[in-house]
Parts: sequence; C-alpha cells; structure tokens
Amino acid sequence: MGRIAGPLDDVAGDAGHIGHPPRMGFFTDTSVCIGCKACEVACKEWNAIPEDGLTFTGMSYDNTQGLGADTWRHVAFIEQRKPLGLQDPGVEHGSYDAYDGVDVLGMASEAAARGGDGDRGELRWLMASDVCKHCTHAACLDVCPTGSLFRTEYGTVVVQEDICNGCGYCVPACPYGVIDQREDDGRVWKCTMCYDRISDGREPACAKACPTDSIQYGPLDELRERAAARVEQLHDAGVDDARLYGDDPGDGVGGDGAFFLLLDEPEAYGLPPDPVVTTRDLPSMWRHAGVAALTLLGGMAAAYAAGRRR
Ligand code: SF4
Ligand code: SF4
Ligand code: SF4
Repeated sequence: MGRIAGPLDDVAGDAGHIGHPPRMGFFTDTSVCIGCKACEVACKEWNAIPEDGLTFTGMSYDNTQGLGADTWRHVAFIEQRKPLGLQDPGVEHGSYDAYDGVDVLGMASEAAARGGDGDRGELRWLMASDVCKHCTHAACLDVCPTGSLFRTEYGTVVVQEDICNGCGYCVPACPYGVIDQREDDGRVWKCTMCYDRISDGREPACAKACPTDSIQYGPLDELRERAAARVEQLHDAGVDDARLYGDDPGDGVGGDGAFFLLLDEPEAYGLPPDPVVTTRDLPSMWRHAGVAALTLLGGMAAAYAAGRRR
C-alpha cells in the first residue's frame, strides 16, 4: 500500500506501475447536462449491466435514485424553487406555474409559505450524471483483502469480479457510497471507467454517448485546466453559483479522478461536502492499538513477577 492521504502526483506510479500513461479522468460539466440519460443507457449496454428495477419513484424523472451495483452512472434530477438565472428554458410559459395545485416534494407549499407569486421563473432543474470518483486515495481499494480492487496504469480504480469474495468491506469504506453488492452472490460492482475501452484507445461509453459533452474524458491535468476555464467563463456570464467539486488534490481524498462542475452546494446533488478517505486514520489507530497491547503485556509481566516474589 502506498500513501493513504494527502496530495499525490503520481497515482499509478505509487501503485507500482512503471512507465505508465498519464492519469485519465472525467470532467462532468453539469451546466450543460440535458438529462437525456444516454450515459446511463450506454453504460448498461457496453458493460452488460442488468436492469435495476424499472420502478417509478415519483422523484422527478429520476427512476434509479442513486449509484448501485446495477447503476454505474446515475443522472440526478433536482427540482428547485430558484430563479432560472441565465438558463434559457427554450419556450415561453409566461406566468404559468408548473407547481400550481401540485405539491411536488413539498416545494409548492414551501413557496406559498414564503409568499411566492407562482411565477414560473422560480423553478429550475439541476441535472447531473454521477459516477465513481476514482479517488486518488481510494479506501475501497485499501480495505479489499483479496486484491479484487486494483489501481490501473491510468490511475483509475477497477473491480475484478472473478476475484471478489463478497466480503463487502469496501462498501462502508467508500466515502461517496458508490460501490455496492449484488443481492444474488454479494459481489461488488461499480464503474471501471470502461477499462477495456480505454486500454484500446477508445473513450468510455458514457462520454462517447453524451450529446452535449457534459461528460468529458481525457488526461486529468488537461481536464482540470479546462474546468477552471469553464468556471471562469460561467462567472463572467453571471452564473455565480458555478463551482468545481472533487478537483482539488488537497481535499480529503487527494482529489478525484472523476470531478464535477456544479451549480449549487454538493449537498443539493446528494454529494458529501467534505469527503475524507475513511482509511486515513488507520496508521494512528494501529499505533494506539500497539501501545495499548504493549502496556497490557507490561502490566501482566509485572503482576506475574510480583506474584513470584511473594
Ligand atoms: S468513489 Fe468509492 S468506489 Fe469509487 S474509487 Fe472512491 S472509494 Fe472507491
Ligand atoms: S466509464 Fe464506462 S463503466 Fe464507467 S460509467 Fe461510463 S460507461 Fe459506465
Ligand atoms: S451527462 Fe450527457 S448523456 Fe448523461 S444525461 Fe447529461 S446530457 Fe445526457
């Protein structure tokens, strides 16, 4: 195991890959996502992932609700009582209120309590395609006892399902709640960043299918530069809420291989605001356990010696 916390320049090198290609990643720009779900479908098709319930959740157009063993890309639909800002709805609805008479998620009554006038301009929709973050410090990988989870030469994190024994240790270790077990045999599944495709020089299926380039794939350094320029562009255009999430190598997981441009706080998208690699404190915990064990042994030896003297 290499370093388990803090910034890390050479993720693949730290995992033992010599002469490896640049670290590859995803930049998901949610400001241009149209919620078409082509990414979800392409992922399922390429990776032969089973269907995940086909249920109607009533949560806007979100019928998968979150990432899981059978949902490796998840497009969130977040309805908010907020001004559209500079978003162009593409059609003029005048003062029509989409929530009039319908209390979707309690937002209509919330607006009424605030004395809202029902102007359609108070409704906006955030759409975002979530995925495994391919963390710089991946706790899922740190705790895996079989080596089923491994770091690839591209710096991504992949599960080998034929080696996974279904112990489930990685599931609570993930600070984002990404990795998940299938109910039938307990083995875990998640996004591989299409390891088979990128090894063949192709882009991942979800990025290939995205019609708006909301999902961009490439060398992580280049993506970070592009993302910073995009945030600047949005700020100049008056979209002050635009911010990056997971791009900072100084954060609690050493930065993500898959990072995002968001238009609200991470919590609005169901993302943890300050994720920390859950194995960060393991070395100090082992040190404390070692000191406690030595103290106990010392006490037992002293008691034994005192008993012999009597
Ligand atoms: S997001 Fe979770 S499953 Fe993905 S690499 Fe990080 S710790 Fe592992
Ligand atoms: S990179 Fe491949 S496996 Fe990962 S979400 Fe996209 S299509 Fe699915
Ligand atoms: S990320 Fe792209 S493919 Fe996925 S829902 Fe948004 S626009 Fe569609």
